[in-house]
Amino acid sequence: MGAPTVIAEARRQKRAALDEAAGKALLAHYGVAVPRTTVVQGPDDVERALEGLTLPVVVKVVSPDILHKSDAGGVKVGLRSADEVRDAIRAMAAAPKISSARVDGWLIEEMAPAGHEMVIGGLRDPQFGPLVMAGLGGIFVEVLKDVAFRICPITRLDAEEMIDELKGAAVLKGARGQKPASREAIVDVLLKIGGENGLLMQHAEDIGEADINPLIVSETAAVAVDARFILT
Ligand code: ADP
Ligand code: MG
Repeated sequence: MGAPTVIAEARRQKRAALDEAAGKALLAHYGVAVPRTTVVQGPDDVERALEGLTLPVVVKVVSPDILHKSDAGGVKVGLRSADEVRDAIRAMAAAPKISSARVDGWLIEEMAPAGHEMVIGGLRDPQFGPLVMAGLGGIFVEVLKDVAFRICPITRLDAEEMIDELKGAAVLKGARGQKPASREAIVDVLLKIGGENGLLMQHAEDIGEADINPLIVSETAAVAVDARFILT
């Protein structure tokens, strides 16, 4: 589905947010890499769904009631067979926070190459319009609030400065024996989200909040493995 279509469809269904698959379709439309993804209704559909995917895969619950899927027991990574996928779906469906929620389906997607987890976000300021945010995942954003913001549209130089002003920037260069994250891939995603022709500028009227958490950045690529867009 194209970008205008996923937003129009969510509005038609009176949804306040895009579901994860729709969010990823929107990102893909702007050239941001996302895992190959499909959504099934239940364990019976798994065999066919896996035909188009390369193992191992991830399974996630799709529910408008569940914001943090892992906290609800709704994410399982590294599944290596149809049986493992089916078992994961059955186990998730029985988890208390999931059995009490509306479930629209189960997202199955390929694993992204290992790398550094970053957060790229967006929000709409009533005065300045779209803002783009970048940070490192985990404690850097959640505990240390180590994030960089810019008003859109951003230039390549802005994107580079955003990365450099993070207190955790050294981590991305491969501190403590880790492999470095591709700086070019991060800049590229920031421009596709916050640049002049980027997603936030193009949909300034529709998108209240954007959250790519995480963007997994390896030495060569950046893949958005979770995406949430709240509509205005
Ligand atoms: P939530 O944030 O709702 O708990 P996510 O979709 O972000 O759920 O998944 C939780 C974690 O699982 C991610 O932070 C990431 O570490 C891992 N993960 C999710 N999808 C993938 C994927 N396609 N490839 C690799 N790791 C993934
Ligand atoms: Mg997430």
